[in-house]
Amino acid sequence: MNNAFAFDERLLKAAAEAEQAAAAEFAEIDRISQHGTAKVLRAFQSQRVSAACFAGANGYGYDDIGRDTLDRVWAEVFHTEDALVRHHFVSGTHALSTALFGVLRPGNVLCSVTGSPYDTLEEVIGIRGSGNGSLKDFGVQYAQVDLTAEGRPDFDAIADGISGAKVVYLQRSRGYSLRPALSVADIAKIVGITRQVNPSAVVMVDNCYGEFVDYDEPTDAGADLIIGSLIKNAGGGIAETGGYIAGRADLVEQCAYRLTCVGMGKEVGCSLNQCRSMYMGLFFAPEVVANARKTGVFAATLFRRLGFSCLPVPGQTAGDIITVLVLRDPAAMEAFCAGIQAGSPVDSYVTPEAWDMPGYESKVIMAAGAFTGGASIELSADGPMREPYAVYMQGGLTYGSGKLGVLQAAQTMLERGLIAL
Ligand SMILES: *Cc1c(COP(=O)(O)O)cnc(C)c1O
Repeated sequence: MNNAFAFDERLLKAAAEAEQAAAAEFAEIDRISQHGTAKVLRAFQSQRVSAACFAGANGYGYDDIGRDTLDRVWAEVFHTEDALVRHHFVSGTHALSTALFGVLRPGNVLCSVTGSPYDTLEEVIGIRGSGNGSLKDFGVQYAQVDLTAEGRPDFDAIADGISGAKVVYLQRSRGYSLRPALSVADIAKIVGITRQVNPSAVVMVDNCYGEFVDYDEPTDAGADLIIGSLIKNAGGGIAETGGYIAGRADLVEQCAYRLTCVGMGKEVGCSLNQCRSMYMGLFFAPEVVANARKTGVFAATLFRRLGFSCLPVPGQTAGDIITVLVLRDPAAMEAFCAGIQAGSPVDSYVTPEAWDMPGYESKVIMAAGAFTGGASIELSADGPMREPYAVYMQGGLTYGSGKLGVLQAAQTMLERGLIAL
């Protein structure tokens, strides 16, 4: 490698060895990417995507062909009856909140079967915060089935816990935790249990970070609804904002009623000039997800050699694009994040600092120099400043740039005496 960045020669040697050791995993990632691209390309063709879909509509957005065609493309890719793909979703949390409020009614029980949900959803549910306007405030009860000590779904406890639930809620990604991501096979098992003990329950999956990571999606495993963000995997680094909900048509309609108005649902909400980037983003998504995963596998393989424990462990089926590096030390977290930031194409000259981010309980440090604000399909590293001082790294639009970012992080730690070679 041309050493334009003046990386330590020993580091470059370790990197070359890590890359070699990861060759088999890279090859499998490429096969999954090819499979995802085939699904996407087929859907573009069969739904007759044309330049007219990119023109954008204004006003009420009745008969917005770009929007309506994109919903059909999305439904075909994820093998669902319908989809609601909208730039109007301000974030993944907004899409998830819309789905929960769309489907749940007063007196219903929401049961999370993968332990505590993602931090930002705690206020939506009413587990934390003022509770004002939360699901709890509207009379929706919350139940939770914790994960086992190994961080796996507790299938027996799930069978007991979901008996009275209207929504069985799963988070596919590890989020800010050390538990492994759910595999599609895990999800299929939970769907099977649900159909047996509570057939009318809705299985809802937080699919953030999960799209195109595996051959199949949660909906292939029988999930009723999946929800995700367009500034993560499914937007391919190109969508400027937005989110999606896909699944059973009656449920997607309820979500659309919540997003816009009862009675209007999907029929309104103009696409403005967002369609082209959402289509292009989906088109690129399988490949971009592959680049992000290779960046993660490279980082984990390198940092394991440097003496840190990293997740997922080699050979484990990936369920998300997150790589966890357990750095065991706040100073190491700061150095790693400073390096990732310095290795970014945008805002490379700033230094990340831990701050009280809205919706999160502990201080969070975040490194991201992204073309799209906060887009974590772009190389980024973050983590709550709490034990075990782990950074959660994700993204990398291209493998070449992702690798350079990881090397910059390792180099910064080396310069601050936090790793030895
Ligand atoms: C990112 C994420 C969310 C929330 O998405 P935002 O876009 O940050 O609001 C929810 N769940 C998981 C698992 C996520 O990774």
